[in-house]
Amino acid sequence: MFPDYFEGPLDVSIVRRAVEDGLLEVDLIDLRDHGLGKHRQLDDTPFGGGPGMVMMIEPLASALEPLSSTTRILFTPAGIPMTQATLDRWAGLPEITFVCGRYEGVDQRIVDHFIDEEVSLGDYVLAGGEVAAAAAIEGVSRLIPGVVGNPESTDRESFRGGLLEEPVYTRPAEYQGWSVPDVLLSGDHARIEEWRREQRFRRTKERRPDLMSNGEDSDT
Ligand code: SAM
Repeated sequence: MFPDYFEGPLDVSIVRRAVEDGLLEVDLIDLRDHGLGKHRQLDDTPFGGGPGMVMMIEPLASALEPLSSTTRILFTPAGIPMTQATLDRWAGLPEITFVCGRYEGVDQRIVDHFIDEEVSLGDYVLAGGEVAAAAAIEGVSRLIPGVVGNPESTDRESFRGGLLEEPVYTRPAEYQGWSVPDVLLSGDHARIEEWRREQRFRRTKERRPDLMSNGEDSDT
């Protein structure tokens, strides 16, 4: 319903470069073009009563039918949480359609007949699915070979091997009496690697023990 939302996220940094280099193509579909009648209606009151409006089946079906060869994802707080493993899997797909809901969500028959996966950005309710789609586009883009300069930077980061990334530092080595851990200035690569490993374990144990019990980041 709000394709303009994506003008910002698609026009900066990695995503913009991926599109410019021909590594990623993003098509925006304005649901309004599929709306009903003179007013291009997209929503109606819920059967059974209750607050809010529900996105109608006809406009969504008309938009999604021609995209049946793509993997169709609906963003909803009631979906499976999106994780790094989800993005890894999506990055391997040739074409994905992200459906961004608004109001109280979409008529369930859309989910039953046109959607391959229902995915949530997290345990909170946003006003629309656009933020989730922007997050997914950015997260998937940086996994496409050639988009991120040094592939090691996506291999070593948080969630790989079920761990969070260690703290990182850069120059100056000292600022207002706050110094960088000595080991990082030692030039001893084995010790540095050992320190980084310990830090990854310590952080993950403190903040996200659930990741450690999985051993690996897991997906649906
Ligand atoms: N009534 C819905 C419920 O309780 O689950 C919430 C609807 S929300 C106000 C409107 C739309 O925002 C949803 O259809 C979905 O597309 C999107 N949305 C909101 N929170 C989201 C989340 N955590 N993850 C993914 N999409 C979300």
